[in-house]
Amino acid sequence: MKSYGKIYIGGHWCLPASTDLIEVINPATEAVIATVPAGSSVDVEAAVTAARKALPGWSTTKPAIRAGYLTQIYEALVTRGPELAELMTTELGMPIKLSQRIQAGLPTVVLESYIKLLGEFAFSERIGNSLVLKEPVGVVAAITPWNYPLHQLMIKVAAALAAGCTIVAKPSELTPLNALVLAEIIDSSGLPPGVFNLVSGYGAEVGEALVSHPDVDMVSFTGSTAIGKRIMALGAQTVKHVALELGGKSATILLDDADIETAVKATLSSCFLNSGQTCSAHTRMLIPQDKYELVVAFVRQHVALYVPENPLNTQARIGPLVSAVQRDRVLDYIRSGIADGAELLIGGIEPPDGLPLGYYVRPTVFGRVTKEMKIAREEIFGPVLSIMTYRDEDEAIEIANDTVYGLSGAVWSADPERAERVARKLQTGQVDINGGRFNPLAPFGGYKQSGNGRELGRYGLEEFLQTKSLQF
Ligand code: NAD
Repeated sequence: MKSYGKIYIGGHWCLPASTDLIEVINPATEAVIATVPAGSSVDVEAAVTAARKALPGWSTTKPAIRAGYLTQIYEALVTRGPELAELMTTELGMPIKLSQRIQAGLPTVVLESYIKLLGEFAFSERIGNSLVLKEPVGVVAAITPWNYPLHQLMIKVAAALAAGCTIVAKPSELTPLNALVLAEIIDSSGLPPGVFNLVSGYGAEVGEALVSHPDVDMVSFTGSTAIGKRIMALGAQTVKHVALELGGKSATILLDDADIETAVKATLSSCFLNSGQTCSAHTRMLIPQDKYELVVAFVRQHVALYVPENPLNTQARIGPLVSAVQRDRVLDYIRSGIADGAELLIGGIEPPDGLPLGYYVRPTVFGRVTKEMKIAREEIFGPVLSIMTYRDEDEAIEIANDTVYGLSGAVWSADPERAERVARKLQTGQVDINGGRFNPLAPFGGYKQSGNGRELGRYGLEEFLQTKSLQF
């Protein structure tokens, strides 16, 4: 077991104000693998002071100089990629092959995109007799969840640093270890002291102290909708910029002319990725009434490939959930689906065979789910798919939009124009058409209660900028 005793403030590893610790647990073994400091409001005060002090210098550095620091961070991140992948598999439970590609790989792709953008982006423009300046928002609190921990942190850190903002980061208390490695990398990059600071700790203590701090100009938050609402209310007291990336309940629509087997395979892959702990997971599969039996046959065939196992096994496709709390929450949703009368096609509440330890849940699929059922309305955040039937295209769109969320979605059709027509009617921030690939340069963010921010690429950079007009 490793013991991390320090937090990163003002370019130094410092002892926190309190000796309280957080235990980090491996969800596959239930063993404590590390302890990290449980920071406090005293630490937040020191971190925000350091970030504020560093702001005048950093915000006025030339973009090329900022790109130089980001390049150093990028190179170290690539070098330490294999170590980071294994670390995140151990603290989160994602299968190692996926961790290598997504958890450790994606942050390097994102960082590289911001290095490139800094060479192209116009931080000012002329509009008539005005010169419009795009200036950094200021001190940013970056509060992140556990499901794609380094990716979610890197989206904020890369864009905020590129914009000229300084940062205080608070990673999730469940998966803080990768963020500590990032702080080590940043420390060795020679980034000026105070530009990046990290305080590990709980949301109620460190998170709230950051969101309430008058010297924090912006909160960039990724997490649950419930906490997002609280953050918006707290941030309002000092009229902060609040960018929220929240939960989802996204729908895949299989139109009647779709390639059903391909669509089923892709939906299962989206729904079960990271044991269903993905904000943009396609968790409701909407299918034409008369295709029910065919779809169920393909589902049974392809779910069989998702057998929970130790995530360090190189062939593993699905590992445990992140914590006992999360597992129990998901099992409650499965119980509610059964109680509400949905047809349990595969999976259920029994623990998977041969895994006496670890927070594993069987990949579960419900058929004949109706829109008033809890499993159709609430974000489960586990490996649970709901199949719902529709009569016609209009009803499919109505069911897809019948949610408080609006983060992602998918449409499948043999006719791409038809698919696009349907996609345009979905009230959601992202729609994948016929398996369209994730694009790290396209804006990512929610409609409705899935949030108000946009991350990635140019839109992600602009989140951390504010505009000033000079008239001549
Ligand atoms: P969470 O809301 O419980 O916690 C997120 C972060 O907020 C953690 O760092 C936590 O410590 C902190 N926090 C908790 N209470 C706080 C408070 N009162 N004030 C300030 N900070 C506080 O979410 P989670 O369980 O870590 O993550 C899962 C959720 O995140 C899901 O709902 C998922 O959909 C969402 N998510 C959204 C996106 C997106 O881009 N839209 C991406 C990933 C995850």
